[in-house]
Amino acid sequence: MSERHEFRTEARQLLGLMIHSVYSNKDIFLRELISNSSDALDKRRFEAVRQPELLPEGTELAIRIDADPGARTLSVSDNGIGMTREEVRDLIGTIAKSGTQEFLRALREAKDAAASTALIGQFGVGFYSTFMVADRVELVTRRAGEETATRWESAGDGFYTLDDAAREEPGTTVTLHLKPADEEDGLKDFTKEWEIRQLVRQYSDFVAYPVRMEVERTERDGEGEGAERTVRALETLNSMKAIWLRGRDEVTEEEYHEFYRHISHDWNDPLLRIQAKIEGTLEYRLLLYIPSKAPWDLAYRHLDRARGVHLYVKRVFIMDDCSDLLPEYLRFVRGVVDSEDLPLNISREMLQDDPLLRIIRKSLTRRVLASLKKMLSDDRERYASLWEEFGQVIKEGLVSLDGGEAENSEAILDLCLFHSTSGDKLTTLREYVDSMPEGQEHIYYLTGTRLTALRGSPLLERCREAGYQVLLMTDPVDEVASAGLKDYSGREFRSLELADALPGGEVSRDAGELTSRVSAFLKEVLGDRVEDVRASSRLTASPACLLSPDGASFSMERILRTMGREAPSPRRVLEINPDHELIRSLEARLGEEGAVESLRDYAILLYEQCLLAEGGHLEDPSLFARRVAEVMSRSLSCMEKAADS
Ligand code: ADP
Repeated sequence: MSERHEFRTEARQLLGLMIHSVYSNKDIFLRELISNSSDALDKRRFEAVRQPELLPEGTELAIRIDADPGARTLSVSDNGIGMTREEVRDLIGTIAKSGTQEFLRALREAKDAAASTALIGQFGVGFYSTFMVADRVELVTRRAGEETATRWESAGDGFYTLDDAAREEPGTTVTLHLKPADEEDGLKDFTKEWEIRQLVRQYSDFVAYPVRMEVERTERDGEGEGAERTVRALETLNSMKAIWLRGRDEVTEEEYHEFYRHISHDWNDPLLRIQAKIEGTLEYRLLLYIPSKAPWDLAYRHLDRARGVHLYVKRVFIMDDCSDLLPEYLRFVRGVVDSEDLPLNISREMLQDDPLLRIIRKSLTRRVLASLKKMLSDDRERYASLWEEFGQVIKEGLVSLDGGEAENSEAILDLCLFHSTSGDKLTTLREYVDSMPEGQEHIYYLTGTRLTALRGSPLLERCREAGYQVLLMTDPVDEVASAGLKDYSGREFRSLELADALPGGEVSRDAGELTSRVSAFLKEVLGDRVEDVRASSRLTASPACLLSPDGASFSMERILRTMGREAPSPRRVLEINPDHELIRSLEARLGEEGAVESLRDYAILLYEQCLLAEGGHLEDPSLFARRVAEVMSRSLSCMEKAADS
């Protein structure tokens, strides 16, 4: 049955981008195809653990390249898992991945070629890259376990066709009808044997299956001077050596990077490589990478795990999305773990409660954290860029949702970088604690949504005067993470939003009766808006500030709001500064007859400007504006009167 379909809009846009290639390195189409084939072979082997009939004994899993210079075609075949007709439609005809729209928008907004290349790399447009070099692409595929095959074809013009087809073995063959070679445009002659050889060696040498091609070879008949003749024979072009088994001195930096690209589908070079061979009661090797850029979907917990850590058992690929190997907050780590101890036929379900895997996970987590810490002390600048990309995710580790991570919380805290009141440089907690002045007992912090708002917060005044540094936290995750902060290096964390955060600090003078008149007045006018009004010891420059009687409810409100939910405004404690000019004048005026009525607006404005100063929401901003205008005009007319008299 033949069908003609139109590509979905996003797919069409992406194809357009590919054809009018934003990417100058057109060679990579071959590694994308080989990579897809290698994944398909992995999948067939994995599924055959459960259903042995999917892989009859004696079947050799392999990839094959065929070039026909005359017809200008190049094909890549595999006997991997293959696809059903529905899968072809879903996987190739559309871009099923969530977030395609966001991706395309980001791509359109990307300023230059380098930025778009990075984005494309993150998204992994794999198969579509073939349209950079071919003006027609055909794909014939048969799903293992099925009898019929499907033929997909497109000229990249917005349409594709699906037909029934025949294929002897399960697997997939992709045939490219190549554009004419054009060296200037980066289009090499991809039908040339040495060109293909070179590309396979450069990009796909470590692929664990043989990549074969028929080549011409000269052979001699018999020994010595026998007649020469040309024969065609299949040759394996890649070394197939698992890169993590080879000694460090045998592998070039470029090969390590290429392997990273293979497993992560990220075209940027990684930021850090972690490599080890663990021996003892449990034996395994690991080759892990930290990307240099966060993938666009990192924030989501459902991100593409297939690009995470791949699990191998004794060199045999087991699964590519082994989320049990590392905790969620390290979900940006890519690479391979190859265990000697796990059983080869382990299934996903078994893995979840496998005690060996739990031990591997524990030691892997510790190793990653230790490597990050080393990077922090060895190369602060590089680490800062890592923190910029992944800090938010790492901090999730402080929220003990992950279960059992409490044991690493000190290690995670060691990795955190914070903004603070001491300049623009980010600080570690170690640096913070080491520079604490005499008399400071706790680690002080303030959370909020904007750094500038935090820097100006009245809550900082006393700390500033005392010379205490305050950590300023503005990431959305901070609200939740900070609620769980207990101590670091024996020092307790204290939110400055808590009414009793600061120890001691006597009210600067006997405020006694003086402020009690003001506070009684404010309480009366503000009513339900505040829990209490009292004299403050923490303010030096501002007239008043708002505090939370129990801290947590405060940040809960902001968390809810960042999630776009209605949040009740919790009742706060209003603290007033008895030394401030405004409070003193208020006090003086309140003594006058009939003043209470005329000062009502002042009370409300005082409260509302405190809300604004901490980045809070006003119930009725226009009413606030009217009150400000009213008070301004009143004071102007007072000035006029004073000038007149
Ligand atoms: P990616 O490889 O980044 O997921 P592609 O566009 O290259 O994106 O491929 C889309 C999907 O099509 C793959 O995830 C896979 O499910 C399927 N696919 C591609 N090539 C093959 C193949 N040779 N054999 C089986 N499935 C394939």
